[in-house]
Amino acid sequence: MIQTEVLIIGGGPAGSACAWRLKQANVDCLILDQNTFPRFKPCAGWITPDVFKDLASNTEDYPYGLTTFRSFQVSLYSLTFKLPTRQYAIRRYEFDDWLLRRAGAAFQQHKVKSIERSADGYVVDGRFSARYLVGAGGTYCPVYRSIFKADNLKKRQSLIVAQEEEFPYTYTDKRCWLWFFEDRLPGYAWYVPKANGYVNVGVGGKAERLNANGDSLKNHWDRLVEKLDRLEMVRGHDYRPEAHSYYLRQDLTEIRKGNAFLVGDSAGLATIDMGEGISPAIKSGLKAAEAIIKGKRYNLDSISRYSLRSILNPT
Ligand SMILES: Cc1cc2nc3c(=O)[nH]c(=O)nc-3n(C[C@H](O)[C@H](O)[C@H](O)COP(=O)(O)OP(=O)(O)OC[C@H]3O[C@@H](n4cnc5c(N)ncnc54)[C@H](O)[C@@H]3O)c2cc1C
Repeated sequence: MIQTEVLIIGGGPAGSACAWRLKQANVDCLILDQNTFPRFKPCAGWITPDVFKDLASNTEDYPYGLTTFRSFQVSLYSLTFKLPTRQYAIRRYEFDDWLLRRAGAAFQQHKVKSIERSADGYVVDGRFSARYLVGAGGTYCPVYRSIFKADNLKKRQSLIVAQEEEFPYTYTDKRCWLWFFEDRLPGYAWYVPKANGYVNVGVGGKAERLNANGDSLKNHWDRLVEKLDRLEMVRGHDYRPEAHSYYLRQDLTEIRKGNAFLVGDSAGLATIDMGEGISPAIKSGLKAAEAIIKGKRYNLDSISRYSLRSILNPT
């Protein structure tokens, strides 16, 4: 049996941020993830300045390519306008690997299947035991499933379905485009040019409203591809998009049970207006670590439910 003080299930931004803070306080922890890193994660990779600030880092420390946007190019119904801001774009393949390595925590590739309570904590798959358990496994987190789900169901109306692809492309339009609510999409489509000749395009929206409209995400993806071709933004690419789903912020009734915590997408924390989940994942990971280190209450009320304020007033 491998024993540790804190077992973190999931090495994405939520799990890595939690491990980073625990390691700073010399708390023994182990991250389990079903993948080895670097790993692919469907995501547009747009991040706010808060992300670096929360991790006591800055853009100069970042060893990979990073794009800075001084504005977003927004299309809203019949209006197209420039929204001044300061935001960044990274590639999740690189960013998550950086976060994990920077955390400096022990890591094992392992797909978690079963979790049991023991006299003094938790036992995972009969192989790992810990006093504290952090559920950082994203939308399908096994900690949520086995400890929280029964009396803490996530709301179907907060479920987002999204489809994206990131690929090398010699782009000429260097602006970050966001198209809201086109053709009754209950969400938005994006085009995000990235450093080192990559571009990320995608579409996301509320699953329940798409169904109610008798619509599908695939229709909106096809329209996006057609638009990118018509506007000569991306031409001649053989698309192979990936889909994923996650939950918008909904304030679950329980995010801590005993010494088990939910952080990031496992708790459904993405912002209600933009579906931004990286910053809330990092903030919640840090808060879980603080609760463990200092015996503090675990409370996520101070994590913003909306992105718009930070877009308009980047810190
Ligand atoms: C298409 C798309 C675009 C998005 N764009 C943005 C964006 O531009 N900006 C933004 O802020 N947010 C965006 N998001 C949301 C963002 O990706 C998530 O909110 C964020 O990744 C949450 O981080 P996390 O650490 O909670 O979970 P994840 O990043 O999902 O990490 C969870 C980890 O847990 C591991 N895991 C899962 N199950 C197990 C298991 N059984 N055993 C072991 N390990 C397991 C996984 O392998 C994974 O590495 C987007 C999401 C999608 C789907």
